[in-house]
Amino acid sequence: MAAISETKTGVQQDFDTSAVRELDSAHFIHPFTDHAALAVKGARVMVRGEGIYLWDSDDNKILDGMSGLWCVNVGYGRTSISQAVYRQMETLPFYNSFFNTTNVPAVQLATLLASIAPPQFKHVFFTSSGSEANDTNVRMVRRYWDLMGYKDRHTIIGRYNGYHGSTVAGAALGGMAGMHAQGGMIPGVAHIGQPNYAESGRGMTEAEFGIVAAGWLEEKILDLGPEKVAAFIGEPVQGAGGVIIPPATYWPEIQRICDKYDILLIADEVITGFGRLGTMFGSELMQIKPDLITFAKGVTSGYVPLGGVLVGSRMASVLIEKGGDFNHGFTYSGHPVACAAALENLRIIQDEQLVTAVAVDTGPYLRQKFATLADHPLVSHPDACGFVAGLNLVRKKAEVVHDCEPFDSADGVGMICRGHMFSNGIIMRAVGDRMIIAPPLVMTQAQIDEMVGRIRDALDATLADLR
Ligand code: PLP
Repeated sequence: MAAISETKTGVQQDFDTSAVRELDSAHFIHPFTDHAALAVKGARVMVRGEGIYLWDSDDNKILDGMSGLWCVNVGYGRTSISQAVYRQMETLPFYNSFFNTTNVPAVQLATLLASIAPPQFKHVFFTSSGSEANDTNVRMVRRYWDLMGYKDRHTIIGRYNGYHGSTVAGAALGGMAGMHAQGGMIPGVAHIGQPNYAESGRGMTEAEFGIVAAGWLEEKILDLGPEKVAAFIGEPVQGAGGVIIPPATYWPEIQRICDKYDILLIADEVITGFGRLGTMFGSELMQIKPDLITFAKGVTSGYVPLGGVLVGSRMASVLIEKGGDFNHGFTYSGHPVACAAALENLRIIQDEQLVTAVAVDTGPYLRQKFATLADHPLVSHPDACGFVAGLNLVRKKAEVVHDCEPFDSADGVGMICRGHMFSNGIIMRAVGDRMIIAPPLVMTQAQIDEMVGRIRDALDATLADLR
């Protein structure tokens, strides 16, 4: 059996890559992975990160166009975060926040979040992940309506192709067909279509389609009976579903419908929180006033796990003043080390004015540069919002997005393209034949040029492959 002890060459050199791959295959069950396929190829072993770049064990330098997994907002190698974590570990590595106990970093972080969140948010519940936070939402929403005397208001409406995590409740709230097909969902969840103009907006302007897509919520509410519906949950911009940027008319109309039927609105900002769209929270850009905001990822830039729920005043007043014990919580709710990491990460985001940069400088620049890819023979309708962007790979282009001819999904063109991205030193994710990015918010204009250049080279290589 292989052992991770030999020295090879290159970066972090106290192991042998082939031994790591062999042991990985023998023992490590990865998330969302086909292990039979992985065993053949062997995993890519990441060893180091600095700024927007990663290095693998073969010493390849790779531009991380996905911020890890939509999370490394401040980039890799921030020693001030590791120092904050180290100091907190030395002082108080852990204590729980059950049983009338608290800790200083958790209180500081809750206070900071209350000051940077939209004004209706003065309270926070901490978890260790976005999925746990969405489970918390389900518990809170149902508890709220019970306390309000509406015992039947238990159904939460999500969207097909939305992603809200991988715990049982998170997977149920999301609308990922592959996850639902494997079973284990919870009852009391319904779904409506996603606001995907390219998919469903034929014959309409984007603005018209936004109203139509929001109208699906009203139809579902009436279908279920408004007295049964507790909440609607959605990502301001769908991430894992393929960077689906909704028409500007969509979210205000969703808000109007939620208000009309007194339905709670949950914004899942696990991706869009902490600056990714050029506002601290995506809800601000979309001009909505949610009752709950789910956060994770960017709160610590992924340096250590942390998530949570911002609880708006409407719900907080009932849960806190009338609720008595809320029988819910995690060992690591308000973990002092995770909160210390978040405090330093948020200090960086604020001091370096990363949100403003995405709003007025690098965000518009990224959008403009990404749009230049539209002249590539494979590319249809690239679009961007802040620091998320996507383009469609198509067999035949057309001016109107609905007239483009797609590839057969069996051809796996997106995956072929993703492989060429890796070979060209850039990580870009494929969702079917849609290629997406969500780079670190620290990316400069020069690095955006480099990224778009690498993407174009990889698109050329993909085209050459297909001919
Ligand atoms: N919600 C959204 C919008 C996400 O994108 C994700 C993860 O990608 C989650 C929830 C789940 O977060 P986690 O993987 O931290 O559980």
